[in-house]
Amino acid sequence: MVKILDNKLIQQIEEICTARGVRLTSQRKRVFELICSSKKASSAYELLEELKISEPQAKPPTVYRALDFLLEQGFIHRVESTNSFISCCSCNAHKHSSHLLICDECGNVTELQNDKLVTLLEENAEKHGFKIHNHVIESHGVCQSCSSN
Ligand SMILES: [Zn+2]
Ligand SMILES: [Zn+2]
Repeated sequence: MVKILDNKLIQQIEEICTARGVRLTSQRKRVFELICSSKKASSAYELLEELKISEPQAKPPTVYRALDFLLEQGFIHRVESTNSFISCCSCNAHKHSSHLLICDECGNVTELQNDKLVTLLEENAEKHGFKIHNHVIESHGVCQSCSSN
């Protein structure tokens, strides 16, 4: 089941890359696959260890370059508070602010998109003459499946 979803996602980002005229190298694709295959956010170190299984010559810059590319294209998000990465729930959307729910027990990260929340933050900032370029909205807590255990 998960495999089918991944293939669909990979196909989707392949199409987006072709349309944008950017190159999805096999390493970039592999890093994206690794991020998608985990419900938890993955750190660069974990990704490097997993990448080494199929690409033994992979070095930290390999992973960082792939992550930069995937972030730039909006395929993944950085979880700032844990310095790790998750796949975006809407890869075909342009850059957007998302609200991340991070479970401190299982590490599961859920991405929510709420335009009202973003508008509210922008309105509050505007009252102080502040223009927002980028938000980090991350909530830590316990997810539904962990709290029902
Ligand atoms: Zn997203
Ligand atoms: Zn949990």
